[in-house]
Parts: sequence; C-alpha cells; structure tokens
Amino acid sequence: MANLVRTGIVIAALCFTASCRNSDVSRAAPEDTRPAATISTQNANDTRVAKEVFGHIPVASNQRSESFGGYARGCQAGAEQLAETGPTWQAMRLSRNRNWGQPTLVDYVQDLSRFAATLPDWEGLYVGDMSQPRGGPMLSGHASHQIGLDVDIWMLQPDRLDLSRTERENLSSISMRRERGAYTNSSWTEQHMQLLRAAASDDRVARIFVFPGAKVAMCNWETGDRSWLNKIRPWWGHHYHFHVRLSCPAGQSDCENQAPPPAGDGCADAQTWVNNILNPPPPPPASSTPSTPRGPATMARLPSQCLTVAASQ
Ligand SMILES: [Zn+2]
Repeated sequence: MANLVRTGIVIAALCFTASCRNSDVSRAAPEDTRPAATISTQNANDTRVAKEVFGHIPVASNQRSESFGGYARGCQAGAEQLAETGPTWQAMRLSRNRNWGQPTLVDYVQDLSRFAATLPDWEGLYVGDMSQPRGGPMLSGHASHQIGLDVDIWMLQPDRLDLSRTERENLSSISMRRERGAYTNSSWTEQHMQLLRAAASDDRVARIFVFPGAKVAMCNWETGDRSWLNKIRPWWGHHYHFHVRLSCPAGQSDCENQAPPPAGDGCADAQTWVNNILNPPPPPPASSTPSTPRGPATMARLPSQCLTVAASQ
C-alpha cells in the first residue's frame, strides 16, 4: 500500500471540507430535487425551520420504519441506530449523531463491511454520515441524507477497529484524487475498486456518487460484467468518501425514488466530465434572471407525515 499515509489528527473533518459541502449541498440539487410526495395543507403554515426541528431530536421515533419524501426533502420514521462499533465496522464522528437509518440501510452497511473485511489490508469499514435519528434537513453539511437511505463510506481503509470516541472525532479520511478529480492518486487501490463494485452490485442500491476520475479508473479496470458501472455516478467532491444511496424499500408509497440512471455503463459521460476538468469549457453567459434567494426549508416544505414523525414520542 505505497504512499498510504495516515494523516492522524487533522482538523479537516470529512464533510466539513469545502469540497464536500459543494458536493452534498449546493451541487446536490440536479440529482436530488424532486417535489415531496405529499404536500398537504396540514402543515402549510408551519414556519419552523426544519433543520432546527430535526437537528436537535436525539432519538428515533417510536413508529413503524418508513421513509417519507425524497432524499433531499423528507424524513424517516422508526429509524435504527447503526452500532457504534461492530465486528467489521466503526461509525465515525459520533458527536454528530448521524449513525441512523432505515433497517435496510443498517443491514446494507453491515453486509458491505463484512465484504470489506475480506479485502487485503482492510479490517472493515469506517462509516461516515447516515441520517439523523428522524432524518430531515441537517444543521450542517448534506442536502440529502434525509430519509435514512444514504450513507457515506470513508475511502480510508481501516487497519484497526478499536478507535476511541476521540480518535473518531479527530482522524480524517484521505483523498483519492489528483488533478481536481480527473485522476485517482497513489492512495487509490484495487481494493477500492473491488469494494465499490461489491457496493454497486447490491440490488438494494440505487446509485453511488464518487469523483469522476474514480469512475473512469473503474471503467478501465473492469474486464468482465460492466452492469454495476451503471450505478456509479460521477459527482463533485466525493474523494474522501463515496456515497451510497439505496432505493426506497418495497411497498413504501410515500418514499420517492429518483429516476434510474441512464442506461449503459456511463463511461463515455464520465470521460467527458474528466476532459472538461482538464480543459474547462468557457463558462456559459451569466443568466439575466437571478434566482430568487430562498431561506432554509420550513416544516411546510416537508411531506406532511414529517410533522407526525417530529412530534412522535
Ligand atoms: Zn453523502
């Protein structure tokens, strides 16, 4: 594992970095903005700021497990907490209290961590943000991760799973990119590709976000079945972690899936993205109609079920 340097105590926390903020907040919109499934008049006048409501609830709701709304506008009922430490994983940044998700997500993370532990030099997974106990918008980072079906997996391969709370606050993941994401760097290994292939080959997964250079690297690496590459979506940021998004569990009619990725392996598109990083096209002319600035989402903008989720004991 040449050049894999453990950065130790570094302040640049995952998802507090500028690139992560770009990827997960401002740039998340094109993949994420679909109207909430159900906007009823029940909460039409609820002007409470949704992230202030959901960002301070410490435990899951005592309800049947269900996702309401879309990845970037919704909430979750009956979430499960991923154990802080398991045989093949550790949840990181415990102070954020974001190791919560729908049961299918908790199962998925554990399954993937068992696979990761079979890779040379990997003890399992370091698991980054999932969702808040009741999902919803967050006080910092991430536009999505709202319905208990998203998880960030660290690119840093775990060589021990006995990190203390403090170590889990201070240890940083490592970046896998060079040339602004056009290429992978020397920390990127075959094991990363095997892990992402396993992650994407799971039927529960809708898409996985990773930086463009990594997608092209995997396009060039795969010599067999290429179908899994369809779910690997090049995106801004996502070089300290990759982001797995599960499909809505079967039978949940108030959970909104995204449209599936376009057919095919997506490799030509990823290559175009890389080419544009290396030789940026001229910026489009500035729009003459400035977009109206919008304040933070209020409870009225969430599916009405989220009112019940927030209020449930
Ligand atoms: Zn994420």
